[in-house]
Amino acid sequence: MAPRRSSPRRSPGPADLRYDFHSHTFLTDGTASPTDMWTEAAGRGHRALAITDHLAMEDPAPLLDRLRSEARAFEDSPLIPIFGVEVSMVPPRHLARVAHGARQAGAEIVIVHGESPVERTPAGTNRAAVLSGEIDVLAHPGLLSTREAELARENDVFLELSARRGHSLANGHVARTAITAGAALLVDSDAHSPRDLVPYELARRIAAGAGLPPAGVVRALRDAPRRLLRRLGKA
Ligand SMILES: [Zn+2]
Ligand SMILES: [Zn+2]
Repeated sequence: MAPRRSSPRRSPGPADLRYDFHSHTFLTDGTASPTDMWTEAAGRGHRALAITDHLAMEDPAPLLDRLRSEARAFEDSPLIPIFGVEVSMVPPRHLARVAHGARQAGAEIVIVHGESPVERTPAGTNRAAVLSGEIDVLAHPGLLSTREAELARENDVFLELSARRGHSLANGHVARTAITAGAALLVDSDAHSPRDLVPYELARRIAAGAGLPPAGVVRALRDAPRRLLRRLGKA
């Protein structure tokens, strides 16, 4: 485990506006423990970090039990620790059932590994995710269609601009399509190690670089995350 960083009290500033709903630990394909990830986010002054380790068809209980137990250490932290899953590489016809099972097992947030431009995600994943009624965020949805973005808006699914190499190649398309459809956007790190966590200023540049106008940047970095936090019962 990395040494725990001291967390000096910081005056409110952009770091306090950093909300991140997508990250991984060594419980799946990340490199650090849940405690290390939340400790680093807290040390940076971030407001919220969701750990969303990968889940396919297996029993979600062992993963969620471990995340829940490590989250307890942050109950009194200014950082809001959130734990859940990223439903990944599941045949679309099983996606809603897997997401529902994760909720039953205690997931506070359920996101879906969308049809990234750089992976062989099963075709139809984006559509199944926005129709499922079970998920909060469609991560890195790649070349999603306007109809899929409209369904995301109608079903209150947040669409993700990704900081992760490869997945981020479609951010411009995701932003444009979400704006056309009126769907809400977030900027997530998809961090696989503590150093991948994205500071506020980089998140702002990712949002602006994807083509969001200034008001859209504020919505993606502040308004949409706060709305999602309220829905998760965390604010
Ligand atoms: Zn993913
Ligand atoms: Zn991920």
